[in-house]
Amino acid sequence: MEQSSLIKITNLKHKNPGEYFVQGKIENVQQTSGPTVFTINDGYGSIEAVAFMGKGERAYPNIKEGDTAKIKINIGEDQRIRIENINKFEGIKAEKMNRTINEIINERIRPPKMDFLIQSEALENMRTQMNNAAREIRKAVINNRPIIIRHHADTDGYVGAIALERAIVSLMEKHYFDPEARWKYFNRAPSKSPFYEYGDVIRDLSFSIRNKEKFEHKEPLVLLVDNGSTDEDLLSIKKLKIYNSPVVVVDHHHPGKIKDGKSSVDNVVDFHVNPYLFGYDRNITAGMLGTELARLVDPKINNIDYFPALSGVADVARGEEMNKYLDLAKKHNLDREYLKKIGMCVDFEAHFLKFLEGYGLVDDLLGENHEKHKDLVELLYNDIIHRIKEQEKVIDKYMKTRKLDNGIRLGVLDAEKVTSRGQFPPPGKTVGIAFDRLSDQGKTMVLGIGPDFIIIRATEDINFDINELIKNTKEKIPYASIQGGGHENAGTLKFVEAAKEEVVEELFKTLGSNDYV
Ligand code: MN
Repeated sequence: MEQSSLIKITNLKHKNPGEYFVQGKIENVQQTSGPTVFTINDGYGSIEAVAFMGKGERAYPNIKEGDTAKIKINIGEDQRIRIENINKFEGIKAEKMNRTINEIINERIRPPKMDFLIQSEALENMRTQMNNAAREIRKAVINNRPIIIRHHADTDGYVGAIALERAIVSLMEKHYFDPEARWKYFNRAPSKSPFYEYGDVIRDLSFSIRNKEKFEHKEPLVLLVDNGSTDEDLLSIKKLKIYNSPVVVVDHHHPGKIKDGKSSVDNVVDFHVNPYLFGYDRNITAGMLGTELARLVDPKINNIDYFPALSGVADVARGEEMNKYLDLAKKHNLDREYLKKIGMCVDFEAHFLKFLEGYGLVDDLLGENHEKHKDLVELLYNDIIHRIKEQEKVIDKYMKTRKLDNGIRLGVLDAEKVTSRGQFPPPGKTVGIAFDRLSDQGKTMVLGIGPDFIIIRATEDINFDINELIKNTKEKIPYASIQGGGHENAGTLKFVEAAKEEVVEELFKTLGSNDYV
């Protein structure tokens, strides 16, 4: 039996069963049908400790949430922590304890001063904002606030989100005595749409409100990755803010009009990391930003050095940062070609996972488990290639191509007729495959026209911006309920089915052609 002594909560994990003293803040009190559960946080860590007076009877009724105290606990052989007595701090002693805890927390939420994985002026210019985001995430963990990551369901989104997940879970494992805590306090889920859909926020809120009632949890910090920066995200984010959730956005989609370094979501979210706000563009991907941010959240995580290059290959990023990240990946024996393979596998997996988080599955593809990783990539890649080859035959047979007067080579597909519902490759990917077959011949655009949507891919040498197109079409056909978004050269236009003819006609006019296929 060890001597009773005052101990930091984070160190309890390594102690033998026995009696100890801790001091800290009563974070919350939960009455169960059996004992009363007190969550105690000393700024270094957090425990749940039980006290039993009688079935469903509130133990220590004089101890309330927010109180500070010195507590004698007993860690049982079963790792259960029981309270032996609580010595509540009053007056100056309580004030001092509160101040001490705040100092500890302020010290611990400060992100480390460290180099990014690459040298980059762009990243340095974004550093203050990245530090703000890292501080908010660290603060959430240290204050026992649950965290939800919502991310775009493509390789870039998965990469950024999983890097952050690893960092957050690693911090949580250090902070909570209970090894199960990460399952209670952390969740990640992909979003099918390239924005935070209202259906997704409703799901997130109903879970968090339930946990608030059941476990007395705080409102979750919601972290949006490769999503969250456009006008389409506003409704969901505003809804979260009404329920008092802090919101952090890590994205590289064009956030719309920027005024004084701020876009429309900046008025609502707590922190927004986006290269466009700093005069850069989508070539600094969400996966790059998420990985660098993850290192600021927990510098101890490793094995993610090649994540940025992987996200960049998948999102077809170019430029100085991309080249440096590729060089870094090469040091881990991962060249562009192999990264492309991994990216294709992640997209394939994401297609079938839909809204499931894919816990572990995508991690394995991202090389968490080296043996499995190689087997998986080989298995899936061969299958994907087979499916793509089949799809290429379909495209070659049914894609209508021609040259417009302005020199643009145009390919048009009937998106739903050349794909099978639910199968891989879906319409978006199919347009991508068609685009790859045409785009080595100069200015190219491929359209995948569906009953109520048009998927668009264009080469960068065409002066074309999907977000502009959406704006203009909205003005020209105000009754078509035009929606959509994407990057400048890749995105989707959505409309009501009844307006299809007019929308297509308008699009062809924009392209400088009057007769459409
Ligand atoms: Mn992306």
